Amino acid sequence: MLLKGTKALITGASRGIGKEIARRFIEEGAEVWGLATRPSEGAKELAAFAAEKGSAYHEVIADVGDPDSVRPAVEAALKESGGFSALVNNAGITRDGLSFRMKLEDWESVLRVNLTGTFIVTQIVSSDMIRKRAGSIVNLSSIVGLHGQGGQVNYAASKAGIIGYTKALAKETAGRGVRVNAIAPGFISTEMTDAVPEEAKKTWIESIPMKRAGSVRDVADAVVFLASDMSAYITAQVIGVDGGMGA
Ligand code: NAD
Repeated sequence: MLLKGTKALITGASRGIGKEIARRFIEEGAEVWGLATRPSEGAKELAAFAAEKGSAYHEVIADVGDPDSVRPAVEAALKESGGFSALVNNAGITRDGLSFRMKLEDWESVLRVNLTGTFIVTQIVSSDMIRKRAGSIVNLSSIVGLHGQGGQVNYAASKAGIIGYTKALAKETAGRGVRVNAIAPGFISTEMTDAVPEEAKKTWIESIPMKRAGSVRDVADAVVFLASDMSAYITAQVIGVDGGMGA
């Protein structure tokens, strides 16, 4: 069990990649607090899975894009847990469209949820980690943040921002026992990518050296590694989970 005794906060844990990260964390012995905007079937499944494994899953309801909602919720979870030793900033949204006709609202909402949300949650959780001189923070970026993607200027900017944020924070906290890394997934099969038209999906998969979409498990396993002591000397890194796409 790689995460025995770990208390973890995972944002966007109700479905997709976040749900699989929560499931794998529980499997590896962690107790998980999963943040989501509303109660969900996913959370019920995770709670049942945790109970089966002799652990617990706690649902935290908040909107990471709204400071008035997320601050008190994360502070309460922090108090309830007694402190987190792992934080996974996974919540994210897309509002795709070509740049020249993108509404300011779509630009701002993506930056607010994906980047500012990560900043707010991390500020609260990392202060406590720094006090305890222990913790691992994993932020979900994207291959789009490294290489760009037409129709996603807002999303690409938010995910590139996550990389700069990760490296800068890692340098602030490295001497204080807290590691900060990012994962840059490529094309992963989830509800988010289900929205991509079939033809575009086919072209995208053709461009992946491993000729397949990634699974949520592929991403979750990399997050488990970064949250565990197996990566004790790794900080300020961006790990691509992309079948060779970003090389
Ligand atoms: P998803 O849409 O299936 O899940 C996103 C999760 O975030 C959901 O649980 C959702 O409820 C939550 N969320 C959204 N807005 C929120 C808010 N304001 N407050 C709290 N929670 C909120 O997406 P996914 O495919 O599982 O992606 C997870 C992360 O991985 C995202 O950050 C995404 O950008 C990143 N990513 C995904 C892919 C991919 O191919 N699926 C590729 C690269 C990066």
